[in-house]
Amino acid sequence: MPAAPAPRRDAARTSGRRPSANPWRLDLRELGRRAGAMQELERTASAPEEWKVELIGVPAGADVHLRLRLESVMEGVLVSGEIQVPLVGSCARCLEPIEDTLTLDVQELYAYEGSTTEATSEEDEVRLVDGDFLDLEPLARDTVVLSLPLSPVCTEDCAGLCVDCGQRLDDLPADHTHEITDPRWAGLADRFASSPDTPGDDTTKEN
Ligand SMILES: [Zn+2]
Ligand SMILES: [Zn+2]
Repeated sequence: MPAAPAPRRDAARTSGRRPSANPWRLDLRELGRRAGAMQELERTASAPEEWKVELIGVPAGADVHLRLRLESVMEGVLVSGEIQVPLVGSCARCLEPIEDTLTLDVQELYAYEGSTTEATSEEDEVRLVDGDFLDLEPLARDTVVLSLPLSPVCTEDCAGLCVDCGQRLDDLPADHTHEITDPRWAGLADRFASSPDTPGDDTTKEN
């Protein structure tokens, strides 16, 4: 007897890395809707664009590692686990390139449409199960972007740049100074300290 072709369903189930499959979209059919059911999954998805703030972010297309647990609960699906992303950016003090890895915990309830949770929540404050699927990308994006530092630093004690020559202070000898400017600044500081009256406000308009 000729072997029958492999059933299509098996092929679909084991091919999580099909190029056409969207790895952010989790298929809930295996988990099912019986409260208490649980499924663990690990996968790698590529980072979309715009996961960034001014000075640091996740490069578009970079590998995002997901280690998640899905739990079926009465109201929907509870997603918990860990998201790991690479970061690239530059130091807010000295502008040196920064490379880092960010690992974040997530825990979020995706409510079923028509559940009490959905009915009692504002539309924009509850994530919803979409039929047999769950879109993980908005949760991952919010979690990552809200965790990005607005002032990333290359090292905690980065001394920044010399205000006079613009070089990284950490690359310069500890006694690095520009002798000419020091007295000048000292003079300015003295002058400001000894003249508290504010100049120039004599064009008083009618009031
Ligand atoms: Zn720095
Ligand atoms: Zn300098």
